[in-house]
Amino acid sequence: MFENLQDKLNKAIKTLKGQGRITEINVAATIKEVRRALTDADVNYKVAKDITDRIRDKALDRKVLISVEPGQLFVKIVQEELTELMGGEAQSINIKGDPAVILIAGLQGSGKTTFSGKLASYLKKQGRNVLLVADDIYRPAAIDQLKVLGEQVGVEVYSEPENKNAVEIAQNAISQARKTGKKVVIVDTAGRLAVDEAMMREIEAVKRAINPTETLFVVDSMTGQDAVNTAKTFNDRLNFDGVVLTKLDGDARGGAALSIKTVVNKPIKFISTGEKMEALDVFYPDRMASRILG
Ligand code: GDP
Repeated sequence: MFENLQDKLNKAIKTLKGQGRITEINVAATIKEVRRALTDADVNYKVAKDITDRIRDKALDRKVLISVEPGQLFVKIVQEELTELMGGEAQSINIKGDPAVILIAGLQGSGKTTFSGKLASYLKKQGRNVLLVADDIYRPAAIDQLKVLGEQVGVEVYSEPENKNAVEIAQNAISQARKTGKKVVIVDTAGRLAVDEAMMREIEAVKRAINPTETLFVVDSMTGQDAVNTAKTFNDRLNFDGVVLTKLDGDARGGAALSIKTVVNKPIKFISTGEKMEALDVFYPDRMASRILG
């Protein structure tokens, strides 16, 4: 994960190591390399510029702390700024309600169904009674896929293969959850290969009808800036509560992880790092920043 970025950042910072102290001259060269490392990682240009400006100002401001080795001081500052960039504190999902309803949105192939299964498993392990809902009226295979995952993690899956009304299916599922004492309902919706008006209208209608406690937008991190742009479009329509970044196991660059919070102003809440049901983690910005810095 993020190997390219890690490599380039470390090379950039290395130039400060062994220097007696941080000066305007040596920090300027390092800052330039850090900015380059970030833009190469497909971080939005403005985001890269803003963060490196802040890193430079902090580094020059703290240069008086000559007791610390400049390389270490600089790493600490970069770590702090990367953490802030990715949202600062970890943000949990809201699962209050009877039942709590979690709506899952995103493009086809982003990893929505896989994530729905993982989230169901994660919440079940916390002792919660969960119902998964296959709310895809276009692809029967999507219903089967969720059923397989549900069986794998031991969570019931609600579906109505003959019903072509996504709003109705979601509403019926919630009524069913109430009747059977389920405490969390996870609604996996249909995605398309690209953003389109029909998909947006449908998911907006589902959201309005079921008034979810939490709406999560799932996006493939490997798509870099496209991931950020798609997030922006979905957020403009859905005003979601958080982002799930998937396929981080295959993302050598990290641009989406670093840009999404600033551009969309919504926190990343979970990250997915593989196809297996266990490959799900709560997103901690500080841990991710440490990881990026190796
Ligand atoms: P959906 O169309 O949005 O529901 O996407 P799926 O859940 O069907 O996922 C699309 C493909 O990506 C499947 O082959 C998944 O196994 C795979 N996938 C999902 N999440 C991850 C992940 O975090 N890492 C990897 N490597 N593959 C993933």
